[in-house]
Amino acid sequence: MPTADAIPAPALPADFNEFLGSGAAIEGLRTAIAAGRLPHALILSGPAGAGKYTLALMLAMAIQCERQPRDLWSNGQTLAGFCGHCSNCTRIAQAANLEEQVAAAVAAREELRETDKKETRVLVQPHPDVLILPPDPPQLLIKLGQVRTLIERAHYLPAEAPRRIFILTSGAMMKEAANSLLKILEEPPETVQIFLLAENPGELLPTIRSRAALVRLGALPTEEIESLLAHRRHDVAAKQRALIARLAQGAAGRALGFDLAAYEAARADALIFLRNAAGASRTATGAQGAGGDLDHTALFKVTETYRAGADGQQKTIELLRTMSLLLEDLLMIESGTPELVRNIDLRAELDRMAAALSFAWIERASHALDQVQSGLRRNLLRSLSLDAFAAQLTG
Ligand SMILES: [Zn+2]
Repeated sequence: MPTADAIPAPALPADFNEFLGSGAAIEGLRTAIAAGRLPHALILSGPAGAGKYTLALMLAMAIQCERQPRDLWSNGQTLAGFCGHCSNCTRIAQAANLEEQVAAAVAAREELRETDKKETRVLVQPHPDVLILPPDPPQLLIKLGQVRTLIERAHYLPAEAPRRIFILTSGAMMKEAANSLLKILEEPPETVQIFLLAENPGELLPTIRSRAALVRLGALPTEEIESLLAHRRHDVAAKQRALIARLAQGAAGRALGFDLAAYEAARADALIFLRNAAGASRTATGAQGAGGDLDHTALFKVTETYRAGADGQQKTIELLRTMSLLLEDLLMIESGTPELVRNIDLRAELDRMAAALSFAWIERASHALDQVQSGLRRNLLRSLSLDAFAAQLTG
């Protein structure tokens, strides 16, 4: 993580009022906790950076807090809160930086003998009664071994706190893991609380969805994110804040941790793909100013750099995400709503590209990109599907 120093470490909000957005949903959850009727399994859904994990930890604190503070509203409603200082709260809060925790767990596994490595699943445990299950690298899926650990522990009574809490931080699961999770969701022990975080609840088995309550975290308006950045990211210039607020797509966490330099690097690569495509399209239609300058070599170099290296998968994900943002921008321009363009600093180039590409082409490219992304989720060879995508664009 070369740029990690530049980004402020995530800290949990001091109370629920500091959590931005989704007010009504959070009120409902707090009321349910105070009344002791929170469903045993909850799906928290929303885009990356919407605060799913942050909220899960805050809810875990509210459930486990030794002091159990309450907000009493004039309408008679009682809302659960957390003190943030007791031994349960402070231990749970230590898991706030999930990436760091997962990196430590993965590093610990690397130290093991080969035979033990296979058996060791990546888990984060900030508190004896709180277990966090992140997607297990390198496939980045929740695996059977992790869910087996969950089931094993779910059958013990909590050691120190009111409940045994499990947080699955991703909806991407191996099939056997999902089936196994289903069993515990069918008959959850009384003291068990499961939080399932998913960018899109559609990625979960319908049978899992039907056994859990769904809470959607909404997107924040761009202006609200811009003002949040103005308060919390003094290192970022106003012009860049406007850009980041749009690129964060309504997700406060993503905006606060946004690494603009890394984004711009990924975007530069994505632009090579698209410039090529625009060039090819001009050549094909014989339009004026046709470059005929298809730079296949540049394109090949890009896919080549994504082929190898430990961070290849992450780089590929970034590239694809960046590219779909660019394609969305092109669609906005084509459909006459340019005010919705996110990459506002590239407006002139996007206008030129949109003029060279047809609406149908952009739709086709978006569709092809979706296929590459779902191929990645199914663990196809990443360079293979990227190359196929590149061929589709230029061919
Ligand atoms: Zn507390």
